[in-house]
Amino acid sequence: MVPKVIFGSGSFDQLPSILAPKRKDKAPFIYLVDDVFKKNEEFLNRLHLRFNDKLLFVSTMEEPKTEQVDTIVKNIKNEFTYQPSGIIGIGGGSVLDLAKAVSLLLTNKGSASDYQGWDLVKNKGVYHVGIPTISGTGAEVSRTAILTGPEKKLGLNSDFTPYDQVVLDPDLTKGVPKDQWFYTGMDCFIHCVESLNGTFLNAFSESYGEKAYDLCKEIFLTENLTDEESRAKLMMASWHGGMSIAYSQVGVAHAMSYGLSYVLGTKHGVGNCIVFDHLEEYYPKDVALFKEMVKLHDITIPQDVCSNLTEDQMEKMIDIALSLVPLWENALGDDWEAIMTRDKLRALYLKM
Ligand code: NAD
Ligand code: ZN
Repeated sequence: MVPKVIFGSGSFDQLPSILAPKRKDKAPFIYLVDDVFKKNEEFLNRLHLRFNDKLLFVSTMEEPKTEQVDTIVKNIKNEFTYQPSGIIGIGGGSVLDLAKAVSLLLTNKGSASDYQGWDLVKNKGVYHVGIPTISGTGAEVSRTAILTGPEKKLGLNSDFTPYDQVVLDPDLTKGVPKDQWFYTGMDCFIHCVESLNGTFLNAFSESYGEKAYDLCKEIFLTENLTDEESRAKLMMASWHGGMSIAYSQVGVAHAMSYGLSYVLGTKHGVGNCIVFDHLEEYYPKDVALFKEMVKLHDITIPQDVCSNLTEDQMEKMIDIALSLVPLWENALGDDWEAIMTRDKLRALYLKM
C-alpha cells in the first residue's frame, strides 16, 4: 500500500516541502510530467526545481513501453553520477506507470521487460512520488506499472511498485477534456464491476469496490454535484477502485481491452468502454448502467474497430486476451476455458 498520501484542493503546493527532507547531496529529483503541461508556465512554476533537478516531458500519444523505460533509465544513469533523490510522476495512468517503472529499473538490472509479471522485482526502487492529473485508473495507488513490451502488455506487479508518497489534488484535473474524463472515469467504474462480480472477491476488495462503485454512480448518473465535488469524488473513487483490485482482479473487459491495445494501440480507457459496451452477457446490470451514463453525457463510443482486422491480427488479439489467465479465472471461475473459447472471443471482438 502507499504509505503516505495527502489530499485536498491546492495540496500540490506542498510538494516542495514534502521533497526537501528526501533530497540527497548532488542527487537530483527527476520529474516525469505529461507533456500536456509543457506550455503551462503557471503549473511548472509550482514545481520549484532546484540544483540539478531535471524535468522530462512525456508524450501520452502511446501508452508506456518497456523500451521507453529502459531509455529513460539509461539517460539518467549517463547524465548523473549519483542515483536520483527521487522520481516524481505527474500525469494520468500512463505517466504514473512510467514513473513507477523508472524508479524500479534504476535499482534493478536489465530491461523493464524482464520484470513484466508477478513479484519478479528484487530490489526496492528509488523514492517515488505520484501525482495524478486525471482520475480513474487507480495507477496512483496500485502495485503494478503496466507496460507494453516486446512480447506482451503486462505490469510490473510487486511490493516495491507502489508510490512512497501520493499527492491527490483534485484541482489538477481541471483541464481534462470531457471524453477523456469519461473514458478514464469508466476505467474506475469497470474496475469496481469486475472486482465486485469476480470469483476472487473478498471482504477487503468488496469494501473498497462498493464505495468506489457508489461514487461512480453519483458522479456519472446524477446531476446534483458541483464540478468541484465531482472532481474530488472521482479522485477518491479512483483510489478506492484501485484498492479494490489490489486484492482481487479485473475481468472480461480488461482481458479483451488488452488485446485491442496490443494489436490496435487502443488506449486503456476508451478500449475498456468499447469492450464493456458489448458485455451484457457477463455484467448485465452494469452494462445497462454504463449505457445510461454514455447517453446522459453524450459520449461517443467508437464502433466497428475490429471490422478490418487481418486473420493474423485477430488471432493475436485472441492470444493476448487468453494469456491473461488470472483475469479469466476471476471473471468466470476455474472452468473459464470451457466458457471463453477462441470462437466465443472472436464473435465478441467482431461485435466491437
Ligand atoms: P493517460 O495517462 O494516457 O491520459 C489520457 C489523456 O489525458 C492524455 O492525452 C493526457 O495528456 C491527458 N491529460 C491528463 N491529465 C490532464 C489534464 N489535467 N488536463 C488535460 N489533459 C490531461 O490516460 P489514463 O486513462 O489516465 O491512463 C491510461 C494508462 O493507465 C494505460 O497505460 C493503462 O495501462 C494504465 N493503467 C494502469 C493501472 C495501474 O494499476 N497501474 C490501472 C489502469 C490503467
Ligand atoms: Zn483499468
